[in-house]
Amino acid sequence: MDYELKFQFKQYKNYFKQPLSTSHGVWRVREGIIISLSNSAGRTSYGEIAPLPWFGSETLAQGIEFCQQLGEKITPEEIITIPDTLPCCQFALESAYLGLNQPQLASYPKNLDFCYLLPAGEEALTSWQDLFQENDSITTFKWKIGVFPLATEIEILKRLTQMLPPKIKLRLDANGGLDISQAQNLLSVTDQLQAIEFIEQPLSPGNPDNLANMLQLGKEHSTLLALDESVASFSQLQKAHQQEWHGVYVIKAAIMGFPSRLIPYCQHHNLDIVFSSVLETNIARETVLNLTQQLNHPRALGFGVQHLFTE
Ligand code: MG
Repeated sequence: MDYELKFQFKQYKNYFKQPLSTSHGVWRVREGIIISLSNSAGRTSYGEIAPLPWFGSETLAQGIEFCQQLGEKITPEEIITIPDTLPCCQFALESAYLGLNQPQLASYPKNLDFCYLLPAGEEALTSWQDLFQENDSITTFKWKIGVFPLATEIEILKRLTQMLPPKIKLRLDANGGLDISQAQNLLSVTDQLQAIEFIEQPLSPGNPDNLANMLQLGKEHSTLLALDESVASFSQLQKAHQQEWHGVYVIKAAIMGFPSRLIPYCQHHNLDIVFSSVLETNIARETVLNLTQQLNHPRALGFGVQHLFTE
């Protein structure tokens, strides 16, 4: 007979120091749910539901509804049958369950290499210096584009890459905000810039032709491309791999369902991955950083985001 675990949940709200501008719009507060599972031995383990509905995950309201209908008990059987329409709930409950049974997983090196997020627009020109002054072991920055007119962003990009120390790599994240001709225009510039590690999600995932269009862009340009929004769910990840995407895959594990399904898939197919934050709290952050230890990931982790929050 399946045994029961005690289930509890609590909502949280974390405010950004400054509202975050992306091509999805302005984000002021990160809201989510912390869940806990306790076993009969009195051990408790935590998980986090950190939805990102504009990436296709469930909404916060759907997460709350799921938690409310569970009541105060859940069985392992119920955890593995959480539907794919609730990927953040799958992640939270399974990771808490695994934490309950494999507490030794909770250890990752403290000197992990993080990529630090810069604000959109001209602010990046000063912001990188502030971050680098605090931590000169930084290897990688990420800059959001597709927020201002492309010509303006290209001008800023040229200035930024001239300023950066030679050891620093720069990721550009368009969040799907470019059309094909804008992407070609940008790529013709970045093909000439040594500092560019890759461009993330140049074209919108909303257009079903855009995976093929990005495959084509990848063939025409030397700049490496990464998929993010196009691989936001486990089924989309499988689909991109089946279509022979050879670029980088950005893995937002906290919105991609059961870790027990995601990690072996990435391992088996030897994907070129970058783990990335969904601006979660330390609960999901620790879980994902532990998961990274199970995979080869030579690229800086997209977890240099803690400077964005107020205490
Ligand atoms: Mg991205």
